[in-house]
Amino acid sequence: MLRQFEMTIGGRSVPATAYQTIMNPSTGAVVGLCPVGTVEHLDQAVIAAEQAFASWRHSSDSQRQAACRAIARVVTDNARELSVLLTQEQGKPLKGLGSEFELGGCAAWAGYTASLGLPMKVIEDSPSKRIEQHREPLGVVGSITPWNWPLMIAIWHIVPAIRTGNTVVIKPSPFTPLGTLRMIELIAAVLPPGVVNVVAGGDDLGAAISRHGRIRKLVFTGSIATGKKVMASAAPSLKPLTLELGGNDAGIVLPDADIAKLVEPMFWGAFINSGQTCGALKRLYVHDSVHDQVCQALVEFGRQIPMGDGMDESNVLGPLQNERQFRRVIELVEDAKSHGAKVLLGGAPRGGSGFFYPVSFLSEVADGMRIVDEEQFGPVLPIIRYSNVDDAIARANGTDFGLDASVWGSDKAKTAAVAARLEAGTVFINKHAEIAPNVPFGGIKSSGLGVEFGQEGLEAYTTIKIVNAAV
Ligand code: NAD
Repeated sequence: MLRQFEMTIGGRSVPATAYQTIMNPSTGAVVGLCPVGTVEHLDQAVIAAEQAFASWRHSSDSQRQAACRAIARVVTDNARELSVLLTQEQGKPLKGLGSEFELGGCAAWAGYTASLGLPMKVIEDSPSKRIEQHREPLGVVGSITPWNWPLMIAIWHIVPAIRTGNTVVIKPSPFTPLGTLRMIELIAAVLPPGVVNVVAGGDDLGAAISRHGRIRKLVFTGSIATGKKVMASAAPSLKPLTLELGGNDAGIVLPDADIAKLVEPMFWGAFINSGQTCGALKRLYVHDSVHDQVCQALVEFGRQIPMGDGMDESNVLGPLQNERQFRRVIELVEDAKSHGAKVLLGGAPRGGSGFFYPVSFLSEVADGMRIVDEEQFGPVLPIIRYSNVDDAIARANGTDFGLDASVWGSDKAKTAAVAARLEAGTVFINKHAEIAPNVPFGGIKSSGLGVEFGQEGLEAYTTIKIVNAAV
């Protein structure tokens, strides 16, 4: 009997009139039935969130902290069920940097966000006046999430919103809705009704959220193309936006890099979640003098990493999450091969069931090839040779993307000098794709607008209110 998942609106389970099957990308098996939500469901959810906001906006700081801690606890208590569901619908393995890791991140972010605060500031306290700056919630926050880290990104959106006195309507990706439906059902049970609501549906429902006149803020994580549509449709209602969009992160390996030591963080910086990570290393510029050594080390490391059905605990890499992404990775690699790329490892789909594409490295690639210029979002790393570091920096920066970048080398002054010149929201030195709840994260150029995490991430869910009193 197939498990049927439901939307949660106003603290209650709300059935839909239609359901669709969600497939396991490793096996092709049906994981469960997802409700097909409508614009009417969305309106119901917005009304429930507005009603909850009327009292949640006046909740005390300690009530909001307690709510975040309750979320952390509920996620931890149900981590086994949620990890299995995540592995079945998303494909990422239970182990490694997979589902259990993602659930651990959910609890860590919720717990840390509880400890943050936005206290009132006194701007002036003089004999004639007292001016206070307060941080106030905005109202109903709309959240739209992608399919790569669906639960962790949902937590990134909803916890700071709740922490600052807002209420939320979230819509997960139609590719991975089940884990979010279940997680929100569990979370809603420990919060006042309507503080968090979840609707499921396709891209059209996402568009209905971004243009909704009574949603007062939108937080969106997804592709650049969709982010642009979201921004345009949010304009008539003048919603503040946080947009976390795609990346095409460059890494630059300097001649003095300690390859033996760095190969492991370099590999995982690129291949975390089989490359389906916004801030993964997606193009690697390697100095001539160490090019062959880097290629060999990465190939040797990558060929022994087990990939397969994530329910088998020996696997640490999974498939591409969906057929569209699988076809895209094939297309980009075939395009590179037809333009002279050399396949060092992998380079063709594995065959058999599931959307498995093996760990792949390509050399003899250059800017101008699609695999270098576009976001591949899969387990393929193009390795680009350079001989002049100024030229490598210019190529790394010569793009509309600007999420993360990295530089790899032993001389601290030299790596710092390159880091200072790289144009990205985060620049890493001798690592890549590390995030933490206390460190603001966001992209520049087309990779996003605003930041998440830390104090600055929290502020994005509030507006400043000044109280200016004559004394
Ligand atoms: P996507 O843009 O296709 O979809 C994301 C979400 O937007 C889904 O819920 C979808 O239903 C919804 N949507 C689609 N059309 C919409 C519209 N017109 N209006 C409103 N919502 C709409 O992205 P995806 O394929 O799910 O995710 C992969 C992309 O996300 C990659 O580019 C990746 O780099 C990016 N990403 C960025 C971050 C980050 O923090 N910067 C994190 C994860 C993923």
